[in-house]
Amino acid sequence: MSVLRNGYKSASEATRAGLCGIMEVLIEYGFVSLDATNISGDPTTRKLEASYRMTTLPPHGENCNSPDFASLHIANHPVLSEVNATCAKIRQLERELMRTRAQLEKDVLALPAKVGPNTELGQELVNYLYWFNEDAPASAVRQIARALFPSKTSSAVLKKTCMTVPCDTCQNGTTQVELTIRSDIANHRWSKLTCDECRAKRDDAFRKRYQLEQERRAQRLNELRTMPYCEYLQTPEWAERRKRAMKRAGYRCQVCNAYGVQLNTHHRTYERRGNERDGDLITLCRACHEIFHANGQLAGGQG
Ligand SMILES: [Zn+2]
Ligand SMILES: [Zn+2]
Ligand SMILES: [Zn+2]
Repeated sequence: MSVLRNGYKSASEATRAGLCGIMEVLIEYGFVSLDATNISGDPTTRKLEASYRMTTLPPHGENCNSPDFASLHIANHPVLSEVNATCAKIRQLERELMRTRAQLEKDVLALPAKVGPNTELGQELVNYLYWFNEDAPASAVRQIARALFPSKTSSAVLKKTCMTVPCDTCQNGTTQVELTIRSDIANHRWSKLTCDECRAKRDDAFRKRYQLEQERRAQRLNELRTMPYCEYLQTPEWAERRKRAMKRAGYRCQVCNAYGVQLNTHHRTYERRGNERDGDLITLCRACHEIFHANGQLAGGQG
């Protein structure tokens, strides 16, 4: 076991010791008050008290989330009285809310007995509660659907429904979405949907842009094909193709493997000038290029 600086045996021990130090400072400045039974004028006892509480904390981090943090006496400091009172109220209301939700579930589950054999009412109720009363727990609604219509599955009883969602683009239009399960309501409430009209406009704009781009390309290709060859060699399109061909050849002559010499990009065919394929171009050193053009083929016609 390695001994850390200051003689702590582990990082967690060092952390705890550090926290004890912090506690001492907090006590010293009155941010933390120890309750009467534990108060002692003896700093060692205070340290032990702090140490006892701190050793129950998880060894690494998360101190503030630990339930043990609540047992620190600062939690009851007089400055926190309003905060604590409001927190207590929230906890009470949350408990109350939980009880009320449990009651609501019981109320829903009690419905089949009240509805009796009135299947039309049962059907209406089930669909209303499932789709239009989000407070009613979906599981309880499914349960009463099975109780009211034992021969059907709950999905068969709960008809699909539609929801009107405002258009995210124009804010005026709306779009209909089909809902199959309760959670779809929440999902669609925040989803960004576009009405048919806006979608058509958007598609139309996209199509026009695409068409324009295609036309522009065709026009440029025509320019590249018809301009004088020496002018073509000055275009950015050719610079790009030439660079790609060189890279593919590993910046060497593709016949004699020479490098460190000036390389030319030779057209094997002019058929696709302006839009050459990789195979239409070959990278040659100046010497091989000259031999080729002098003889009409490489290696002086010997092969
Ligand atoms: Zn719209
Ligand atoms: Zn060469
Ligand atoms: Zn050439």
